[in-house]
Amino acid sequence: MTNRFAVRAATIALVALPVLGASIAAKLRVVATTPDLASLAREIGGDAVDVLALAKPTEDPHFVDAKPSHIVTLNRADVLIEGGAELELGWLPPLLESSRNSKIAAGAPGRIVASLGVHMLETPATFDRSKGDVHSLGNPHFMIDPVNVKIIAADIAGHFAQVQPASAALFRANLEKFNTKLDVKFAEWQKQLAPFRGARIVTYHKDFVYLAERFQLEVVETLEPKPGIAPSPSHLARVIEAMKAKSARVILVQPYQNRKTAETVARQTGAVVVDISQQPGARPDTKTYFDMMDYMVTSLAAALGTLK
Ligand SMILES: [Zn+2]
Repeated sequence: MTNRFAVRAATIALVALPVLGASIAAKLRVVATTPDLASLAREIGGDAVDVLALAKPTEDPHFVDAKPSHIVTLNRADVLIEGGAELELGWLPPLLESSRNSKIAAGAPGRIVASLGVHMLETPATFDRSKGDVHSLGNPHFMIDPVNVKIIAADIAGHFAQVQPASAALFRANLEKFNTKLDVKFAEWQKQLAPFRGARIVTYHKDFVYLAERFQLEVVETLEPKPGIAPSPSHLARVIEAMKAKSARVILVQPYQNRKTAETVARQTGAVVVDISQQPGARPDTKTYFDMMDYMVTSLAAALGTLK
């Protein structure tokens, strides 16, 4: 019922558009599935775009609460940026179907799939969805690797230019600015984490694999037995043993993960629980991708530093 209303409201809005006149250089309406991708879109699009994220910063990107308002947002979009690799499989396809927007259909210039340019880690040879694993096409949490982000930013700039050729020079200039800043910040993050090369960490979900690979950390265990499957007592007992055997004393949790479970494990292993987020806006003063990474790297280095 609500869906039908939402679609009708969107149709009315669409009919009204040509009346407003297409001669004024309208801002590109960009929708990103998650705030990290939205932050990139703002950096590249600058004043030529209006950007909205569907997921809240504190929501699990695998399990976003789909709302009728999302259908309206998608219906009006000129560009959709998704993580891809089935990150949004559980919630985006029905919203897209209801939004009936050919501009952001698969394969259209207005559809950007971030994972397509990224070298995916943990791509399974075979996959059994019945086991509940949500990483069917490899690990989709690749935005915390600055090398991947550079690839995705270039992809976004290319698509923006295709959809709005008049602003192509602006998008190119913004991309260059972004890359310059990213190079500086990446060097800083590497320096901050360099003393902790080889450090052993534990995460709730398999969501820090790319960070570990890029900054040479070792993810010893995850509290979830499989991505998307809640921790069980028997699995946690194995995790505790592994943490003791390998002296892993840092557990990373994101806002939507069960902190109590992490605290229980921490109590039995002498570990510390570190609150971070891969989404800008979830932690204090983390409006942009750069803020979010600063917060993550600084928190992680601080925690590892106290254990030395
Ligand atoms: Zn995941």
